[in-house]
Amino acid sequence: MNVIIIGSGGCVSTPRACCSCRVCTEARRKGYPYARTGCSLFIEDVNILIDTPEDINASLNNSGIQEVEHILYSHCDPDHTMGMRVIEQLKMDWLANSLGKKPENPIEIASLPAILEDIKMQGTKYGSVMEYYEARGLVYTKEIRTLKKDNILIELVPADDQEHVAIFIISSNDKKIIYAPCDVKPFPKSEKFQGADVLIIGNTIVGDILKDGFVLEEDNPLRKELFTLDEIDTIRKQYEIKKVIITHLEEDWGKSYDDYRELEKELNFIYFAYDGLKIN
Ligand SMILES: [Zn+2]
Ligand SMILES: [Zn+2]
Repeated sequence: MNVIIIGSGGCVSTPRACCSCRVCTEARRKGYPYARTGCSLFIEDVNILIDTPEDINASLNNSGIQEVEHILYSHCDPDHTMGMRVIEQLKMDWLANSLGKKPENPIEIASLPAILEDIKMQGTKYGSVMEYYEARGLVYTKEIRTLKKDNILIELVPADDQEHVAIFIISSNDKKIIYAPCDVKPFPKSEKFQGADVLIIGNTIVGDILKDGFVLEEDNPLRKELFTLDEIDTIRKQYEIKKVIITHLEEDWGKSYDDYRELEKELNFIYFAYDGLKIN
């Protein structure tokens, strides 16, 4: 099983346009892995992409992805979905289309029923974007709770009662990776997380001193919305997870690729994602 974190950034990519902070300036000069695109994951063995942030086209190019056969969505938040026009880049051949031809292998768009419904609500004045792609034969949509392909099993665990957010358990043979990119606090309780090899998780605020020396006070509301590193370590211990990789890294945390490498030395079993990080 080969999984690539093709996008490790947060709501805002790094470098942030027009920002001259230390982290963005370095990212602009050095490129990847100092630069980060929006949060997404690719399962290489089965050509499955999870989420389409605005700059997903750049993420796919950077990781050398050859084909996308399925797109799964974790939830409908714009930072995970607003790049859905990548479907046109992957499947729309305007010249063939002018002759009335439709693409041969449409992409499967799949998620929990409530999430799929949310995705279909995203649109322009012309209506639902996803339904437009479906009508054009670029995609077909499917409600799923599990997806089995070759020797890979993906299970979607709802993160909330309304099932508007999914956590993915990707397993193959005796290996198990959990992908919980966003909106997963409080972390749901499930036996299924037990003993995972890797937990890739977003939703985490890294450090008490953030961009431009911003001090995160004890009563800051971000602490309620996002995990702290201590809380992540509690989840790790609770489920006896071997290794945690933090993704969805915000530019606001004020940390560079090198800063994360330094921070890893102070932590046990906790690492930080970067664009193109391969896990096998
Ligand atoms: Zn910046
Ligand atoms: Zn997000």
